[in-house]
Amino acid sequence: MILEKVEVTGILTTNSYFYIDEKTQCGFLIDPGAEAEKLLNVINQKHWHIEAVLLTHGHFDHIGVVQKVCEALAVPYYAHENAQTYLTDPQLNLSAYMGKPIILDQATYVKAGDVIALKDQPEFNLRVIDTPGHTTDSIVYYSEKNEVAFVGDTIFKGSVGATHFPGGNEALLWRSIRDKILTLPDQVRLYPGHFEATSVGAEKNI
Ligand SMILES: [Zn+2]
Repeated sequence: MILEKVEVTGILTTNSYFYIDEKTQCGFLIDPGAEAEKLLNVINQKHWHIEAVLLTHGHFDHIGVVQKVCEALAVPYYAHENAQTYLTDPQLNLSAYMGKPIILDQATYVKAGDVIALKDQPEFNLRVIDTPGHTTDSIVYYSEKNEVAFVGDTIFKGSVGATHFPGGNEALLWRSIRDKILTLPDQVRLYPGHFEATSVGAEKNI
C-alpha cells in the first residue's frame, strides 16, 4: 500500500489522500478539496492510475475540485447516498458562502457495507462505514487488510468533527465514533480530513 497525504488549500486547508496499490500502481484519490493542478501533477509524476475519486462527505472544502479532477482523469466519484442533497445544494455544501457555488450531480452513490475495489486487483479495496453526525452523509473508507481508515471530518487527532452545520447532530456523531470507529482494531490508523493522522488506540485512550 502507498498512502500519501497532499495538503490542498482553498479557503481552508484539507488533506487529500492518495491510496495506491503498490503492485499495480492503481488506486483512489480521497477528497480533492482544492488545487486540482497540484493533485494532477502528483499523479503524473508518480505515474499512478487513479480509478475513482472517493468523497468522505459533501462539504465545499472536500469537494472543491472534484469536477476538474474527475474530468481530467475521466473517472467517477463516489459519495454516500445521503450526499446527493449536499452535492447539489451550494447552501448545504457551504460553497454558496465561499463565493464559488459547487453543484455536483454525477456522483455514484454508495451505502454502508459497500466495497470499492480496484478493477483488476479486487483485494485492494475500501469498505464503506456510515458515520453520520458531522453531516448526514459522512462516511469512513476502511481497509481491514492495511489497517487504515479515511475518516473525513468525523474524528480528528484529539478532537471530533463540528456539528453546527446543516445536517449536523452531536448525539449521532458521538454514537458513530463510539460504535463505528473506536470499535475498529486499536492499530488502525485514522486519516482525517484536516490536521494529523492518529489511531483508534490513541483516540480511545483520550
Ligand atoms: Zn466537513
